[in-house]
Amino acid sequence: MALMTAQEYIDSLRKLNTRVYMFGEKIDNWVDHPMIRPSINCVAMTYALAQDPQYADLMTVKSSLTGHTINRFTHLHQSTEDLMNKVKMQRLLGQKTASCFQRCVGMDAFNSVFSTTFEIDEKYGTHYHENFKKFLTYVQDNDLTVDGAMTDPKGDRSKAPSQQADPDMYVHVVERRPDGIVVCGAKCHQTGSINSHWHIFMPTISMGEADKDWAVSFACPTDAEGMYMIYGRQSCDTRKMEEDASIDVGNAKFGGQEALVVLDHVFIPNEYIFLNGEYEFAGMMVERFAGYHRQSYGGCKVGVGDVVIGATALAAEYNGVEKASAVKDKLIEMTHLNETLYCCGIACSSQGFKTKAGNYQIDLLLANVCKQNVTRFPYEIVRLAEDIAGGLMVTMPSQKDFHSETVVGRNGETIGEICNKYFAAREGVSTEDRQRIMRFLENMCLGAAAVGYRTESMHGAGSPQAQRIMIARQGNIQEKKKLAKNIAGIQK
Ligand code: SF4
Ligand code: FE
Repeated sequence: MALMTAQEYIDSLRKLNTRVYMFGEKIDNWVDHPMIRPSINCVAMTYALAQDPQYADLMTVKSSLTGHTINRFTHLHQSTEDLMNKVKMQRLLGQKTASCFQRCVGMDAFNSVFSTTFEIDEKYGTHYHENFKKFLTYVQDNDLTVDGAMTDPKGDRSKAPSQQADPDMYVHVVERRPDGIVVCGAKCHQTGSINSHWHIFMPTISMGEADKDWAVSFACPTDAEGMYMIYGRQSCDTRKMEEDASIDVGNAKFGGQEALVVLDHVFIPNEYIFLNGEYEFAGMMVERFAGYHRQSYGGCKVGVGDVVIGATALAAEYNGVEKASAVKDKLIEMTHLNETLYCCGIACSSQGFKTKAGNYQIDLLLANVCKQNVTRFPYEIVRLAEDIAGGLMVTMPSQKDFHSETVVGRNGETIGEICNKYFAAREGVSTEDRQRIMRFLENMCLGAAAVGYRTESMHGAGSPQAQRIMIARQGNIQEKKKLAKNIAGIQK
């Protein structure tokens, strides 16, 4: 099948029986829901750009499984160049949406499950790799969006999955049948889960022998019997439901999406199982997925950062301060920080290596350094954006006020006229354009989009401490000590 168009992708979601709940109710037409639709538009952009000849080299690639032209979001990376192109593609998508476009979690799951299943089969003679290859061929041929579901609720974090008072705190097998398994549990803050056709579930931590029933990975259609989602709300999200508020929303077209995904006795046929009790491989799957997703942030957050920097420069221009040397210097600092993240994304890709299964893995140390910087630099970029934009981005009256014809002034001036008078930008710039850029920055810095640009930068793909553990493991301090001893002339 050919690549899907953006419209075909949106229509394909309507055909699914995905169960979505929000504000305590089931949402039947969730595809057109004003709070959900921007996140669908974002994923749709991964389809739209793949149709654009200008981006064909970046967005499409030849499948290593079938030789067909596929969307890069469904690709198994075949070289370090592929890894770098992945990061470039993510930066492009960030630039086009200023949001989390969600489809990367599936791409990162494909690559980590592909290489891990190969090594499980090598040790145990299982058939997980074949299962996975068949599944991925189906995904590539149908140009599907797949959620990579990793983060379990975790309950008491001092305890292993098998020690939890409630066994559902980690996704686990509750029944083994000749034709498959039955699973229970949930995955938290799942990026793009509602907008995905399928899910790949993976464990979230390394596991011991007692955790065998929790060491499980599988694919499952998003509308499988027993599976449902509860939508995660975002700061200022109900602005999307207001009338005459498209400017107040900040980014009316695009947005991210997270949800709680619940598996209530879902049956998984054998052909969709990729790990089932081989607990010592849970850690490998987690580490590889986390590595890829930490690389991803060196692309997507940089693209979003490009838009934040652009918006900040416009705010300065509209305020008439763009020539001030302090403003120029802050924009330089923002650019420097943003490009440093890109350097990290490209570096961990360029130092990638071939796995036993044949696809390419990123350099783990550099990917963790990349993500560690992502937990910091967007915060500083946002701080500088707020500094330059000024307080107006959080104090301006509503769009309705700007349009209001209610008379308020002594000489019959309306609320709208008063707002337009006192919030006027420099000459030659409309008040509405100034309003737009201020609201956009509010959205990026502390509104709905801040989920993606700030808190997700902190916790997505693992919280900062998770990267520090990996940096400690990969940093090779012993080797560095030897270097110092050699030069300092220390013998033992
Ligand atoms: Fe992709 Fe970034 Fe969203 Fe992760 S946070 S899914 S890498 S856009
Ligand atoms: Fe993420």
